[in-house]
Amino acid sequence: MRAAVVLFTRDLRVHDHPALAAAAREAELVLPLFVLDDAVLAGAGANRRAFLADSLAALDEALRARGAALHVRRGDPAREAVAAAREAGAGAILLSDDVSGHAQRRLRRLRAAAGPERIEVRPMPGVAVVPAGELRPAAGPAYEVFTPYHRRWAEQPRRPLELPLERLRAPGAAPAAPAAALDALRAGGRPSPGRPPGGEPAGRARLAAWAAEGVAGYRSARDDLAADATSRLSAYLHLGCLSPLEALERAGDGPGPAAFARQLCWRDFHAQLLAARPWIAGEDMHPAAGGWRDDDALLDAWTRGATGYPLVDAGMRQLREEGFMHNRARLVVASFLTKDLGIDWRRGAAHFMDLLADGDVASNAGNWQWVAGTGADTRPGRMLNPTLQARRYDPDGAYVRRHVPELAGVEGPAVHEPWDLGLLRPGGYPEPVVDHRAAAAAHRARRRR
Ligand code: FAD
Repeated sequence: MRAAVVLFTRDLRVHDHPALAAAAREAELVLPLFVLDDAVLAGAGANRRAFLADSLAALDEALRARGAALHVRRGDPAREAVAAAREAGAGAILLSDDVSGHAQRRLRRLRAAAGPERIEVRPMPGVAVVPAGELRPAAGPAYEVFTPYHRRWAEQPRRPLELPLERLRAPGAAPAAPAAALDALRAGGRPSPGRPPGGEPAGRARLAAWAAEGVAGYRSARDDLAADATSRLSAYLHLGCLSPLEALERAGDGPGPAAFARQLCWRDFHAQLLAARPWIAGEDMHPAAGGWRDDDALLDAWTRGATGYPLVDAGMRQLREEGFMHNRARLVVASFLTKDLGIDWRRGAAHFMDLLADGDVASNAGNWQWVAGTGADTRPGRMLNPTLQARRYDPDGAYVRRHVPELAGVEGPAVHEPWDLGLLRPGGYPEPVVDHRAAAAAHRARRRR
């Protein structure tokens, strides 16, 4: 083939990129393209926009060093990709296959636009370890229970990693660096001060450090909130600055790597659920028991980290400060919103998507539904006690003290029950907005209705 377009979406890397590698093997000339799609950008908060801008700048640099700079256009990706292919005389558009309703519609539109031009459209693997749809249960289009999915996922043969890419030849002159477009992207709001830097080099450096020093202790430390001993690779995986297959293989073998692999499997599990039922991004997978309560004041206390439950507040403030929250804290704050406060999971999920650098439709909606009891949890009634969770996963209280300055002077685990310390006063740390014991009884009553 003389020329091919590689349409980048959320696969912003040059290593282990099957679509880019296939184009480099099969075409004499390769045109790498990214289209700024307003339909996607409208839903992206400042942290994700900044992460995307960093990642596009890094991708352009990596591609330029190999001989073919990134073309950045704005508009409908299907229309722009076909226009770019026509201008370059390309016979094919290659892209990573993806799972959301938006991605599925984009692929259909791309095929419709490319067909009359006789341009091949080729979706390729790369966003998951095991591509969505590759494993199917005996009945239904996707696995709804994690354990049997995990069993098959662990045994599934995997594609070999792509060899490092050396040289590319581009059709036509190199475009100018996309600095202005990226500045405009960064201008959409103020990111969190502690947000992670985006880009493939930052992701690869983190993966290298994780494989060398972090993953061995992951199994025992992953739930220790203060230790902060998880990989923090999620945003790099979400935007494809890292290949999930490469992350899995670089992690190696042993109990720590096996526990890490299990989490990458959760990522694929939620992706295959969304691919089969794209509507679960916004609609209950299973009906909610008892309905939801509309209470803007309680929702506001939760988003500000002012519920009076120190672990919940620490998690919500970590989210605001870093564009990230530890998984254990995500579970606790989501259970608190949906079960203690009885507020619709969609409102919590929207707040997460606004702030998380790793905000991912499949993992976010899937986990929110799991916690809310409308999703894939086989025990949908389960409710977490925020104080017991705090005593168990932040036994010395260091995580709370790190994120809740009003309580920084309280030593040891007493920080989890400030109502016993005579500390609560107007303008200081707040009283609990609900009583957990009463909320648990109300939750049980709602489920019986
Ligand atoms: P590690 O513990 O190091 O795990 C390694 C990788 O496995 C992660 O980077 C992630 O890609 C994947 N992973 C881990 N746990 C899960 C999980 N439960 N579901 C899916 N993938 C997982 N993760 C997102 O990437 N984006 C989201 O928008 C998101 N929203 C969430 C919302 C709620 C309510 C909950 C409970 C969890 C959510 N998660 C989400 C999953 C999980 O909390 C994060 O992936 C994890 O905290 C990221 O930190 P890490 O990279 O250090 O993870």
